[in-house]
Amino acid sequence: MNIDVLELGPMANCTYLLTQGKDALLIDPAWDMNFLEHTLKTKELNLLAVLFTHGHFDHVRDAETLLRSHGLKAYLEKNDIALSGLPEELLNTYSGEQNLKIGPFDIHIIPTPGHTAGCVCLQIGNALFTGDTLFPGACGRVDLPSSDPREMRKSLLMLSKLPEDTQIFAGHSYGGKCSSYIGYEHTHNPFMRNAIKDEKVIS
Ligand SMILES: [Zn+2]
Repeated sequence: MNIDVLELGPMANCTYLLTQGKDALLIDPAWDMNFLEHTLKTKELNLLAVLFTHGHFDHVRDAETLLRSHGLKAYLEKNDIALSGLPEELLNTYSGEQNLKIGPFDIHIIPTPGHTAGCVCLQIGNALFTGDTLFPGACGRVDLPSSDPREMRKSLLMLSKLPEDTQIFAGHSYGGKCSSYIGYEHTHNPFMRNAIKDEKVIS
């Protein structure tokens, strides 16, 4: 699987284009649909699905035109449907922790509430797309509507138990960096470190 990191929009959002041969997935396409359509066309890709990590506007913003032009529904956790503002007829919902098989892609959905109630991480092979749950050295804000700091700590603790060589791909490239490894976060991410330290209290 090839992973293209596309930094788009004014908020350092990272959209991910995953390809296997001519089959493609997009994670969190929100900005610059003309660029995304052009990329799909010039690479002659077959867009199989759109998946969202959560429903914040900067992750879903202009996706409706893309979904309509490709006749696709996007995947989103049900708790974030209202937040996204997307029409329900354009959405499939994740249901808890589950495996999705889309074309050649095997996707493990891991619910990670905290930043929003409907945040998920998407695990595909060794790659983990973390949206605004986990950033290199940080985690997402937990002071927004539907945020829950306690849930965030549980989610970070759960992610800390994934294999250390799991490569994370975050929803923003704050500080110019969107990727890291779970093993690196164990020692360099104070929020994950605290979650691990407080495991007995959290669980
Ligand atoms: Zn967000």
